[in-house]
Amino acid sequence: MKKVIVQKFGGTSVADTDKIKNVAKTVIREKNNGNDVVVVVSAMGHTTDHLVKMAKALNSNPSAREMDMLLSTGECVSIALLTMAIQALGYKAVSFNAMQIGILTENVHSKARIVDIKTDKLKKNLEEGNIIVVAGFQGVTDDGEITTLGRGGSDTSAVALAAALNAERCDIYTDVEGVYTTDPRVVPNASRLDIISYEEMLELAHAGANVLHPRSVETAKQYAVPLRVRSSFNLDNMGTLIVGVEKMEINKPVAGVAADLSQVRVVVCDVPDTPGEAATLFGCLAQENISVDMIIQSYARKASQTNDIAFTINKEDLDKASTILDEVKVKLGAGDVKIDDNIAKVSIIGAGMIDRPGIASTMFKTLATSGINIRMISTSEIKISCLINKEDAQKAVKALHEVFQLECDEIADVKGTLPEDEL
Ligand code: ADP
Ligand code: ASP
Ligand code: MG
Repeated sequence: MKKVIVQKFGGTSVADTDKIKNVAKTVIREKNNGNDVVVVVSAMGHTTDHLVKMAKALNSNPSAREMDMLLSTGECVSIALLTMAIQALGYKAVSFNAMQIGILTENVHSKARIVDIKTDKLKKNLEEGNIIVVAGFQGVTDDGEITTLGRGGSDTSAVALAAALNAERCDIYTDVEGVYTTDPRVVPNASRLDIISYEEMLELAHAGANVLHPRSVETAKQYAVPLRVRSSFNLDNMGTLIVGVEKMEINKPVAGVAADLSQVRVVVCDVPDTPGEAATLFGCLAQENISVDMIIQSYARKASQTNDIAFTINKEDLDKASTILDEVKVKLGAGDVKIDDNIAKVSIIGAGMIDRPGIASTMFKTLATSGINIRMISTSEIKISCLINKEDAQKAVKALHEVFQLECDEIADVKGTLPEDEL
């Protein structure tokens, strides 16, 4: 059997018909290397953002089911157009959506996880010599409901397909030449990394480096899928390879800096200081599938025997969370619930910070000398995150990137544009 290569092309790479023609050529190049090729595509350009805007113009709180029905259409346009472009160049190709293949997910709208991918149809079509073009981002439940995997989820579709097909490699083609030490749209002389470990990439992606969907890295690590991020527009550059940690030589304490502007901070005030309160609070949020990121519980106040519990969630979950919290605070006998959306999480990531003292203090000192106030802190073995005011995010990223000496002499070639709600 031939080797299977999975290629994924993001929105900027398929933004117009000329770019789609360019993608068709890249796909054919891989086919001509003697490989079977499965291609995953995202919606064209900013299509998904436009669909979201239209939905919100009609209904301020659209149902998650209908949002999935709507947003999944973007990828359906791209797969048909790319397949036509490949066929026009004389190659056999066929497009499939998630339902046709059987990309099965949990029964959760807007951020479903893939549970299984049927491979019979894919294998049959590859054997017949077809290039297969698959709609990213979408899935289907057991009972035929359309789901989506969360914004940026086409990366995860691609890696999951690569795992299911036991592919040789999964190449993520995007609008930058690989993974950089920080977003090159914010720091133009950020350095491109030749390799990065799954662990560091996972932390970077979770911290807001949206070059890869976090769950794609998680899946690649779990199934040991060799993953590469490279540019659609410069095939001479091999991009960044994401690999197991044992292959890494760690010489810098910090591998990258990221900022996440998609979170809001919630404070539940005056929670009684008794066992089980936090379990109830976070249990109710978990039941509604709301992920919580940073959590801080204040020191118990002796006089009132209460704590404040502060945490961050994704702003997309805020409406749902507010409804739940109104009920939970009564159940807990807690005080007010305060919401703050003027926040950003800035993080430094690096396996090299393990057992190397002084990294946290350098981060805090750098933010302090830039006049930036830290509002919450959280750490993992290879990551330190600080919650700061949103307007300080760019300044913080630039200062931290500089202090940890991550810049290089070259200016990165970036094709995509910065959406309004990012840095
Ligand atoms: P695609 O549409 O191809 O999926 P995305 O916009 O989702 O592309 O991701 C690519 C973008 O991620 C780049 O344009 C870049 O600005 C941004 N980005 C953020 N952090 C990083 C990083 N550390 N390395 C590379 N790109 C990054
Ligand atoms: N089109 C979807 C989005 O914009 C999925 C993706 O691009 O990966 O979020
Ligand atoms: Mg993306």
